Amino acid sequence: MNSLNGRKALVTGGSRGIGAATALRLAQEGADVAVTYTRGEDAAREVVAKIEAMGRRGLALRADLADPAAAGASVAGAAEALGGLDILVNNAGVGVLAPLDELTAADVDRVLSVNVRGAFLTAQAAAARMERGGRIITIGSCIAQRVPGPGGTLYALSKSALIGLTKALARELGERGINATLIHPGPIDTDMNPGDGPTAAGQSAMTALGRYGSAGEVASMVAYLASEDAAYVTGAELAVDGGFAA
Ligand code: NDP
Repeated sequence: MNSLNGRKALVTGGSRGIGAATALRLAQEGADVAVTYTRGEDAAREVVAKIEAMGRRGLALRADLADPAAAGASVAGAAEALGGLDILVNNAGVGVLAPLDELTAADVDRVLSVNVRGAFLTAQAAAARMERGGRIITIGSCIAQRVPGPGGTLYALSKSALIGLTKALARELGERGINATLIHPGPIDTDMNPGDGPTAAGQSAMTALGRYGSAGEVASMVAYLASEDAAYVTGAELAVDGGFAA
């Protein structure tokens, strides 16, 4: 499996969870991969060590997307170190579930700055450096398609915005041969949403398959969308959710 040989990728939030699994899968497919982190420097370095052990180039960059300057800096850092950028995986995100009357303006700013503004600015900076065949793959959430109960107003707002972002990116970048796609993961066992957490059984029951997914199952979809096989897939939303939205 070397379908991404020679490609250069950046995975935001690649120190843990879905991002780390994605970075490793892209490297397994032949790509050189940069990952960003905020606090998890050791975890990010472990991911880089695994990428290098596969014979690829790896790089860890600190980038807190709450800072608007971080997006452009991480894209520039990755592109300069790897010698270009072909694949952006816009994965970094923060989750918040809280009753409507408990959410503050500061919560709104924090979540939208990372999940929406961060995704926008990173895509904008990456698009400026990409050539034909480039891929912008964003990690949204199944909550943009189906909100199964209370507490999700802010998180659903942030993830729904990525649908418009992806469709508009596809339209704007299509003539340059750059594809933009959006993955809606269902419940995935990570630090953000542990498969043994207090709400895990209920989330599993909401899927058609009756279980959590793994970060690797999302990474498989990213690897496909990044590949030549997905050359005619753009502006699309793909659910990797065990049938959560069915
Ligand atoms: P994790 O919490 O396990 O990992 C989050 C990653 O994002 C880490 O690498 C973290 O870095 C990084 N990160 C956190 N805050 C920021 C920030 N302010 N700026 C930049 N990077 C940041 O999350 P998951 O792997 O579960 O989630 C990845 C994506 O998938 C998110 O967008 C999430 O919304 C989405 N998703 C997850 C689902 C799930 O069930 N797990 C379901 C649907 C969507 P560090 O290690 O330094 O903290």
